[in-house]
Amino acid sequence: MIKALRYFIEIIRGSFITGRHFASNFFFRCLKVLGIKTKRKGAETIQYPEQRKEIASRHRSLHRLMTRPDGKPRCVACMLCVTVCPSECIYVEAAEDPDPEIQKYPAKFIIDLSRCCFCGFCVEACPEDAIRMDTGNVELAEYSQDDMIYDLDKLIR
Ligand code: SF4
Ligand code: SF4
Repeated sequence: MIKALRYFIEIIRGSFITGRHFASNFFFRCLKVLGIKTKRKGAETIQYPEQRKEIASRHRSLHRLMTRPDGKPRCVACMLCVTVCPSECIYVEAAEDPDPEIQKYPAKFIIDLSRCCFCGFCVEACPEDAIRMDTGNVELAEYSQDDMIYDLDKLIR
């Protein structure tokens, strides 16, 4: 009986807290709409997708592969990103480059974004600054898992 009473008291207490937050947020939002400035920084709704919040420069978004001046990928297929990736979602197939300075290039470079945890280890590990996560693209939803597989064509931008 006492337990049931406590239960209902907590429900009523919780409802009051929710109501209090609703009323104060509504009040300050009305002031803002009327152009009246207050010291309070309330929660603000971004009207996505019409409005978009600026993404911090250090945010890790969709990967991209960097290129050399002649358009070839900067990647030398060293496999460091493949080795360090905790999700094992990078696949690189190395091929011989005729240029002895470059030695190897990625014939295939695939990232399975459906498995990627966006840790950024691949970017940190790359000795050539060949892979970056600074595209600002965070809208990566797809209908099929296959569309989450990004190859050279999709990664070079
Ligand atoms: S961000 Fe992390 S999980 Fe994603 S590909 Fe790079 S190393 Fe792998
Ligand atoms: S992207 Fe960088 S770390 Fe990954 S294989 Fe290419 S050169 Fe090596």
